[in-house]
Formats: sequence, C-alpha cells, structure tokens
Amino acid sequence: MAILNVKDIFHDLHQIPEIGFQEFKTSAYLADKLRELGYKVTTNVGGTGVVGVVKGAEPGPVMLLRADMDALPFVINGEHKAIHACGHDAHCSMVLAAASNLKDKIKKGTLKILFQQGEETLKGALAVIDAGVLEDVDIAVGLHIRPVQDLPFGKLSPAVRHASSTFAKVKITGQSCHGSRPHLGVNAVEAAAAVINAASGVRINPVISWSCKATAVNGGGNAYNIIPDHAEITFDVRCQENEGMTELLGKLQKAAENVAAAYGATAEFSLPGGVIPAAVLDKELTAEVAECIKEVVGEENLGEELVNPGGEDFHYFAKTYPKLKSAYFGVGVAAEPGLHDPNMHFNIDGLQAGVEVLEKITLKKLG
Ligand SMILES: [Zn+2]
Ligand SMILES: [Zn+2]
Repeated sequence: MAILNVKDIFHDLHQIPEIGFQEFKTSAYLADKLRELGYKVTTNVGGTGVVGVVKGAEPGPVMLLRADMDALPFVINGEHKAIHACGHDAHCSMVLAAASNLKDKIKKGTLKILFQQGEETLKGALAVIDAGVLEDVDIAVGLHIRPVQDLPFGKLSPAVRHASSTFAKVKITGQSCHGSRPHLGVNAVEAAAAVINAASGVRINPVISWSCKATAVNGGGNAYNIIPDHAEITFDVRCQENEGMTELLGKLQKAAENVAAAYGATAEFSLPGGVIPAAVLDKELTAEVAECIKEVVGEENLGEELVNPGGEDFHYFAKTYPKLKSAYFGVGVAAEPGLHDPNMHFNIDGLQAGVEVLEKITLKKLG
C-alpha cells in the first residue's frame, strides 16, 4: 500500500472527534488503515484501543509507538460537543503516517503501533496496560504537539517532562446542630476552611517544582441556621518528581486529618483518580531522539527540553514496567490559543517533521 500522507489522515480524523473510551469511528478508521498496510491488528484493546504489529526477520527489541485518540468534551451554546482541542488527531496522524512508511523497513525485532483511548480520562494507559500491551515492550515513544508558548513552529523538543498529578478529596464530617447553639455541634465548613489554610502551609523541597491548592469546596446545606456536619474539599496536586509527590500527598493528608481533629471533626482523605506518574524518560533514548530531530529539521530547530506541569498517562508505562525505556517528544506546530481551548488550532505543515522523527528513531532500533 502507498505511503499515507499525514495531512490527509489528519483531515479524516479531525472530522470525527470522539471522547475517551468512545473513539469508535476513530479506532475503526485507524484499524482499517493498519490492516490495509499489512499490520497484524488487534482491536477493542482495553476498550477502544488499537494495536498493530509487524515483525522483522531478525530478533531484536519490541518497540512501541503510541498515539492517543480521544477528543475533549465541551458544552458550547448549550450543546454537548467533542472537539480535538488537545491535538490527539494530530498524534494519530503522525503515528499512522510513520507506520505506513515503516511497514516494509523493519528488519529486526517488533514494531507495535498503539492507538490509545481515553488519555484525557487518565484511564486509557492503565486500560492498555491491563490488556497486556506493554508486557513485552522494551522501548516506548510518545509525542505531543505543543502550544506556541512552549515551542515555536517548526521546532521539536526531545523531551516533554510532564509532572505527576492528581486530585485529592478531603471529606470532612462534623456534627450538626441549631445555629443558635454552635457549642453543641462541630462546624464542618469551618473545619474545611482551616484545612484549606493548612494546605497552603504544606511544603516540600523548593528545588522541585510542585503545587497543592484547593480547587473546589462544597459543604453545608441550604439553611443559614444549621451548623453543617459535612464538607468536601478537592485539591489539585502536582509535582515534577514521583518521590516528591508521595511526600506532598502524605503531608497534605496529615494536615487535613490533624486540623480537622483540632476542630473535633474527622477528615477522610482519598485519591479517586489515582496518581499520574511524572515522566521518567530514558536518557540515552532521549539523546537519540534529539539526534533524529537534528537530522530531520537541523540543529537550529532542536528545541529545549520542556518541563510541563500537566499530566500525561503515557508515563504509567515506565512506572509499571521500570525496565521499559521511554521517550516523549514535542512537536512545534504553533498551536493557539492553547491546548484544551475549544478554538485550538495549529499549522498542520508542522506534522511531517514529527512523522520523520518517529521513522528515524524506529529505524535506529529496528531497521
Ligand atoms: Zn489534553
Ligand atoms: Zn493531549
């Protein structure tokens, strides 16, 4: 089959945005293309995931190229809409275009193409891990388009270092009573306010970048004259390093429990979304990606490594399989006004460089 053009694929995928775990048309499209190219294809992997495999004649490593498939849900003028505001359609386009060119060039080892569902739900990577996709993988490469603030058009960054991120819930239980006799109860809303203040006193080594802040609080009822017995706080917590994240969450939990106790209330601490791991990228592989970028766009267009306080569930792969070597690079396409904005748009002329970097790094390992 002919080599696929990244722009043509993008035009097709951009028309069918679907939210996480509902990428039915997207995964069917990608699976069909992979089959036509001659890949051995598995569908419904951990939900809507798609895996395509091609093996070389000689033994060698198993290398995975991963693109996420999902769009984001928005409500615009009262209408629910899925929009590719994070550029995942661009990622699938780059990986599929690379796969079309790589199919007949794999001499050793195994190339696995993964179109992963539900990245924005932060459950997609875990679903494909549970499905066993990563079990035999030695090398994994992911990529993301970058907003113009991160990386100018035409430049590529060899590493996007995402933070560990999570949201913590603190459920506070007090004792309700009549508003005229507050000494007979325990005011959960007051305890919640104190917990929020205490959280701003939580600190870890400032050399590591991190943040911990309340982003939602709900409590009490509709009556002004009842001392409320319940309140719930949500904290958004981020840290560039996994160890720092563990320390931060431990301190936040302790602060919440102890401050609530000082008010006579109890605090129940939970992490309902799990903890997205920080990027732990392989040094050598990242250096090889940087070489590939230089070969494709010249040294002048090799961007800096990017530190990104956002989360990316790709990093569950290396966290789950510590021997797996992973790289994650950024593609400068001048995305504006920013990712996750419903009006996000970018220059698709920047995608071909991403395709070629994927091809080069793959052929360094399997060619
Ligand atoms: Zn996103
Ligand atoms: Zn994204």
